[in-house]
Amino acid sequence: MFGIEKSREHRAGPGADGPRRRDLLRLVAAFIADHILPRRGLAKSQREYAKPPHHVIIVTFGGGCRYQDTLAPEGWRNVPHLTQDLVPQSFLYPAAFNQGITGHFNSSSALITGAWQNVDSFGSEPPATPTLFECLRKERKLPPEETWVIATNKSFSLIGASGDRGFGAPFSANVILPKQLLLEAIHQAVSTEKGPGVEDREAFYKQMLSALDEGYESYGWRVHESEHKLDRELKTSLEKALLDYFNDPSVPSSGDELTFFMAKEVMARFAPSLMLVNFWDIDIAHYGSYSLYLQAIERTDRLVWELWQTVQASAEFRGRTTLFVIPEVGRDGDIHGNGFANHRSGDDACRRVWLLATGEAAPKRAGAERPIRHIDIAPTAAAILGCKLPEAQGQPLQELAI
Ligand SMILES: [Zn+2]
Repeated sequence: MFGIEKSREHRAGPGADGPRRRDLLRLVAAFIADHILPRRGLAKSQREYAKPPHHVIIVTFGGGCRYQDTLAPEGWRNVPHLTQDLVPQSFLYPAAFNQGITGHFNSSSALITGAWQNVDSFGSEPPATPTLFECLRKERKLPPEETWVIATNKSFSLIGASGDRGFGAPFSANVILPKQLLLEAIHQAVSTEKGPGVEDREAFYKQMLSALDEGYESYGWRVHESEHKLDRELKTSLEKALLDYFNDPSVPSSGDELTFFMAKEVMARFAPSLMLVNFWDIDIAHYGSYSLYLQAIERTDRLVWELWQTVQASAEFRGRTTLFVIPEVGRDGDIHGNGFANHRSGDDACRRVWLLATGEAAPKRAGAERPIRHIDIAPTAAAILGCKLPEAQGQPLQELAI
């Protein structure tokens, strides 16, 4: 079951990850899904419940990118799948504005609460107002497997539920942080007789470490771990290896690839009503390498397209799914701020991004030039999924309707 698929994929262009690496990440995702998720009691519920007829997938386009580097004409070369494959079958809002805090946790929380958030930027606090996950699960009486967050950003462990007492943990989304699961998988593979099979353990362990050596993620190692404890010594050595690696900005990261494969696994196993897929590798821009930033944009462009193709290939999702794709933040302008590297200045380039909506609720080959806001997305998704979002500040986008 851990055989690596023999098929070889074409390189998508400069900066694309090689086939061997993708095979490995696919294997890792399958390993995690097979050996970790069921042990967390996330096996498909046998309970009877009315499964909502519609699916919504919200994708953060990857850790923050500027309009000029993506959907402005000078950026089209960086996003060939968005511009050539997705836009023609989508409804495009070319001007979406983040009017809140331009950090990753607060901006992504705004996307799934419909309200600007002002909590700890490093993820030590949950969103302050109810998330779409909680509202959907509570109102529709849905089990946990109907809502998921799959996040490359390690600070997102608390993004699945708010601190609101009327909602909170009992109605939380499942939050999957693939890097943490990867570490657990390594631990399991080397420390038990179960897992990938005794004879495969050594090879598997080497493959895992090799994946880490190639650079799993680029920036911002921080984990708010609660229930799952890794062996301290192993964890320490792995963390050190990862941290050493993070300090080498010349190495491409691959966290989003694993997030993508994990999202596919979750879709295949649970067909959830609502997913937030947090791509984040573009944030490698903090290291100041414009070429690595563009490379990450290209990879995110490809992964979004592959995610949409996954939807189209699934009888469960095809025709019943609306996909929202939006950068959670832009990045500083060259003139007013620090340039593409950061997203702290709060200037227009930090705030102005775009929203692409495709699928069931989205008219094709159309768009609206009026400015919209990040907080409008959750209310729109709530309308599509058929639930209320009582504390949202945003408004449903009227162009998108079932
Ligand atoms: Zn950042």
